[in-house]
Amino acid sequence: MEFSKLAGVFEKLEATSKRLELTDDLAELFKATPENEIKIVAYLCAGVLLPEHHGVDLGLGDKFAERAIALVSGKSVKEVETDYRKTGDLGDTAERFATGRKQTSLSRATELSVKKVYDNFYKIATLTGTGSQDLKIKLLAELLSASDGVQAKAIIRFVTGGLRLGIGEPTILDALSVARQGDKGLRPALERAFNMTSDIGLVAELFFSKGIAAIEKIEPQPFSPIRPALAERLDSAEAIVKKLGKCAVEQKYDGLRLQCHKAGNRVEIFSRRQEPMTHMFPDLIEKIRKTRCRNAIFEGEALAVDEAGNFLPFQQTIQRKRKHGIAEKGEDLPLVLVAFELLYLDGKDLTNEPFHKRRELLERIAAGSGVEVSRTLVTDKEIDVQKFFEESVTAGLEGIVAKDLNAPYTAGARKFAWIKYKRSYAGHLADSVDAVIVGYYIGKGKRTKFGLGGVLCAVFDESERRFKTIAKVGSGFDEKELASFFAVLEELKTKKKPDNVDSVLEPDFWVKPKVVITIVADEITRSPTHTAGATETRSGFALRFPRITVLREDKKPQDATTVKEIEDLFELQGK
Ligand code: AMP
Repeated sequence: MEFSKLAGVFEKLEATSKRLELTDDLAELFKATPENEIKIVAYLCAGVLLPEHHGVDLGLGDKFAERAIALVSGKSVKEVETDYRKTGDLGDTAERFATGRKQTSLSRATELSVKKVYDNFYKIATLTGTGSQDLKIKLLAELLSASDGVQAKAIIRFVTGGLRLGIGEPTILDALSVARQGDKGLRPALERAFNMTSDIGLVAELFFSKGIAAIEKIEPQPFSPIRPALAERLDSAEAIVKKLGKCAVEQKYDGLRLQCHKAGNRVEIFSRRQEPMTHMFPDLIEKIRKTRCRNAIFEGEALAVDEAGNFLPFQQTIQRKRKHGIAEKGEDLPLVLVAFELLYLDGKDLTNEPFHKRRELLERIAAGSGVEVSRTLVTDKEIDVQKFFEESVTAGLEGIVAKDLNAPYTAGARKFAWIKYKRSYAGHLADSVDAVIVGYYIGKGKRTKFGLGGVLCAVFDESERRFKTIAKVGSGFDEKELASFFAVLEELKTKKKPDNVDSVLEPDFWVKPKVVITIVADEITRSPTHTAGATETRSGFALRFPRITVLREDKKPQDATTVKEIEDLFELQGK
């Protein structure tokens, strides 16, 4: 397929945020896509080269893209930069400079294909070693020199991560169904397949080549991560027992969620966002290997412990995720792995089995391996749930997770199969909020030297796939943290408001919505200064007295707290 076709659809999609239109335009694109290219087209639409677990990341910096644009347009990097400052969008700059070129240039003789674009992207993402930087710029320039304005814009937005989030996986799944059947009826089956594989390209390809019957047969496979089940929240033992009746309550551990895959001697570990993380946990591998089974997929929480075996706070556990000094950190910060779910065992998919059965098998395979299992209590009594909660909190944990004994594993979805009930200090919200930074303010007064005065934070509106602001946060970080945090935000700075952000406030600088932080606050109020949950007749939600607690490198922007969750928290607090 010609790349102009894909770029044309991207251009059209940019102009609408209406889900229905998005779906129909995408469905038309998929109908026109040859079967052997549907996989890469699905990836490109989702804004990725490959699923996260392949560990291939394109994300090029703006500087890099500026050099490629300069090379092709014959302008200096300085001129490109000046134009970027004017347009505020490097994609727009690429478009202007590309259309400014003579259309008769030799390389335009052959139309750019989707495959060529994908291949060059892949090489750019994977080249390493001396001279690779220059080669990458050449590969990007090669694409730009064969592009018209619309194509150049799409290419630059893709490589710099500036494609808007409008086309999320749910829209792609809807569109696949519409393309083949004329309606969205096949979405549930496609969605389950996606949740089991975390691979939108694979699902699209299998669906187009083998049909829905093959999709329905997809089962979990070791080394292909399953999308994580998420918890709903309630704020009392009474509400939990009312909702679930007899249930299992478990301690809620505040660590790093890991999905462990084992087949024979091979072990791989994935993060909650499906990144490969095996190399970071050499000390856990042996324990996972010793579990009593041939092959398995199970989930647990990894936590750093002190010498006495007490769990340390998340801030300390996450140090292990930082790339450097893994071995040394292993000695300084020993980890325990507390397992709480079993999804697959010895060739059998367990995701549709009731929780009580998965739990029983989990206990069996973990016994004697060194992998611990979460502490649990099965009860139908409110008083027992409350006592268990209080014991957990006294032990320094976040709270509890209550589980529906008969529920399947709800991959990729937030359902009442799991309910979290978290500690809240008097006068505080029942839960912390994971927010995405969309802008920042320059430090004033005593903070001038750290650069950063505060950050503008947003939550995720799932239905519109947009980030909506909820708080301006200036406190929580100490001086050292502020300085290093500032460096991260500087890298993500953009000159105008990102397309997928809704905000009334204007920060000093906008940043691409990438960084997730956890915020605690006293309460949620209504405020006209924020856009989260705002409608024509109602003000948005705002966090009162917000403080940053930790940088959540384990969460993607789309994993941030959603507007719907904020509404639920607002309701909970009203009671
Ligand atoms: P939250 O991240 O606050 O939405 O809470 C859900 C998270 O709690 C899961 O993603 C897990 O990482 C974590 N968690 C800790 N302990 C448990 C447990 N016993 N069962 C399930 N999830 C747990």
